[in-house]
Amino acid sequence: MTAPDLYGFTPITDDDATIAALLNEVSVPTLLCAMVHLTGDPAWIRDDKLKPAGLFLNEYQGFMSEEAKAEARARALPEILAFRDRGGVLPPAPSDELIHEIMCFLGCADIPEDVLPMMLSELNLDGTGVPSLEAPPVTGDRQAFPVVVIGCGQSGLLAGIKLREAGIAFTIIEKNPGPGGTWWENSYPGARVDVGSHFYCYSFEPADHWTEYFSQQPELRQYFVEVMGKYGIEPHCRFNTEVISADFDEATGTWTVRVRAADGTVDELPARAVISAVGALNRPQLPNIDGIDDFNGPTFHSIRWNHDVDYRGKKFALIGAGATGFQIAPTIADDVEQLTVFQRTAQWMFPNPNYHEPVPDGMKWAIRHLPYFGRWFRFLILWPGAGTDLVGPRIDPEWDDRDGLAVSERNLATRNFFLGFMADQIGNDPELLAKVTPDYPATGKRTLQDNGSWLGCLQKDNVDLVRTGIQRIEPDGVRTVDGEFYEADIICFATGFRHNDFLWPMEIRGRNGQRLNDFWGDEPGAYLGITVPGFPNLFCMYGPGTNLASGGSLIFHSECQISYIMGCIEKMLDDELTALEPTVEAYETYDELIRDEISQMVWSHWAITNSHYKNSKGNVHTLSPWPLHVYQAWTRQPDFSKFVLTK
Ligand code: NAP
Repeated sequence: MTAPDLYGFTPITDDDATIAALLNEVSVPTLLCAMVHLTGDPAWIRDDKLKPAGLFLNEYQGFMSEEAKAEARARALPEILAFRDRGGVLPPAPSDELIHEIMCFLGCADIPEDVLPMMLSELNLDGTGVPSLEAPPVTGDRQAFPVVVIGCGQSGLLAGIKLREAGIAFTIIEKNPGPGGTWWENSYPGARVDVGSHFYCYSFEPADHWTEYFSQQPELRQYFVEVMGKYGIEPHCRFNTEVISADFDEATGTWTVRVRAADGTVDELPARAVISAVGALNRPQLPNIDGIDDFNGPTFHSIRWNHDVDYRGKKFALIGAGATGFQIAPTIADDVEQLTVFQRTAQWMFPNPNYHEPVPDGMKWAIRHLPYFGRWFRFLILWPGAGTDLVGPRIDPEWDDRDGLAVSERNLATRNFFLGFMADQIGNDPELLAKVTPDYPATGKRTLQDNGSWLGCLQKDNVDLVRTGIQRIEPDGVRTVDGEFYEADIICFATGFRHNDFLWPMEIRGRNGQRLNDFWGDEPGAYLGITVPGFPNLFCMYGPGTNLASGGSLIFHSECQISYIMGCIEKMLDDELTALEPTVEAYETYDELIRDEISQMVWSHWAITNSHYKNSKGNVHTLSPWPLHVYQAWTRQPDFSKFVLTK
């Protein structure tokens, strides 16, 4: 068997010395897994001398000693040279049992049987379900079944790829001039993903070219542009166009989707199914601060970063320091005269030494040339954050939480670990340490990643962290409630998004003209986060209850959702249905289940007062409390006994 080119393996043409040098830069535990494929010999993962010592999120060497790594590389080199010399011929593929064993080796854990299906499908060694580049012609009933996808971010683009592959007519409506959603829009300095890039990409479209382990926005934006081009999605897209409303007609089972182009032209598109792929983090939330319009200088929200404004040498006020502010501040601190960061709530942060690290040439080479190396590296990133038990964020009902600082023994240990990480960096500055120490349980809000850049930035002479509340904005700066005044030339609001307002500001009217926002009220819900009774043939991606606060990647979730949605659409086509929607009972049962589960999680804890995970009533309806493998199993295919199917 020769190495499949499914994932773009290319034959090795480098000389011996080059290969030996490149191996010095690879993740050695991942290399050992690839060696099993390359040689057919399981001994690589059975030798105690070569076992990773442990696993930690974003630790790519499994804490192996230098000696063990050197020995592994030395043993691997001649085998790789032989593989090159025999023209890339591989021995028979490892058995399923051996694959499971490799997973346990790399994950430094017993990978439970119930998690195995998810891990196998993520690894996808045989390329099952990889979309074909050739699209079938759109004819017959598939032509008469137009689908409108709202949004061309990662989920909408994925929907397009799957619809095209199924030969179904579709149009993607996108408000931006190009694809990528949040990665198109967020161009603020320092914007980068905080899920490892080799996992934060489509499972079927791995990229061997990431220049950093956690890619910056321009590279991610380019990834989505390239994927769109590769799968021929662009002709199906209407960019610079927004959906205003969608109305369902019961007689025909058809939605009428009203769209408005940038020039104001309004158009109506019929849709037998609508897929909402609008994302949840792109409608800016501006703070309600007195005097906000009185400021003399430029102001902008982080997602509308004004690149015409030169911040160099200026006094810069950054209001808000969540995930976005954490990235902006260290990036601009050295260029501004003064940076004042207004942070209402301190944030927990997780150590990630690789956060700003480039991917070395050896890693890129191994992904390109060593069969399955890239797949196993993806596994190495996924597994430690896969949240297979979600014990970490769960509130222990027996735990005395009156101080509001922890929700379980394990959560207290996490708190102490995070505190230790912070103290290691700024222990010499107790005042700053006290200022940045959160007063709520660890992981209760989105935990941020840090490689030292955030706390390092706060220690700079020209950077001031202000934890006092803002009273008002004045023409020349910001005044806090203690009367202090902070001069500013520019204000940036990194104050987040309308995360709780699903599908806002569109008007979606289902059966009997019922408005979706009226049906939802303050607490949107959806059966499995995807379908809503009374709103037939409407499918959500990244819908209510599907945001991830505990590991994983939203792209993973999107792949689960689209597989489920395509199952529903195929059912409609096969059975010539006019309408498909969940039963009220299925919706309510699921709603109760998810609310009950969420209420037991740290994100719902009373000690967390300011969190975009909570709505105005303090309830959480945006997050998924489910382990990834559970959600994947539930969404693998629809259970039509939970649906009302109308002919
Ligand atoms: P965010 O996490 O909600 O942070 C908003 C910040 O603004 C917080 O510090 C918040 O304070 C503050 N704020 C909001 N309203 C305020 C007000 N009225 N007065 C004073 N301060 C106010 O928003 P974000 O940083 O834009 O991040 C949102 C989400 O986007 C993240 O959770 C993540 O999912 C995603 N994101 C990801 C990345 C990445 O992958 N690296 C980067 C950026 C964003 P409180 O904390 O007190 O509410």
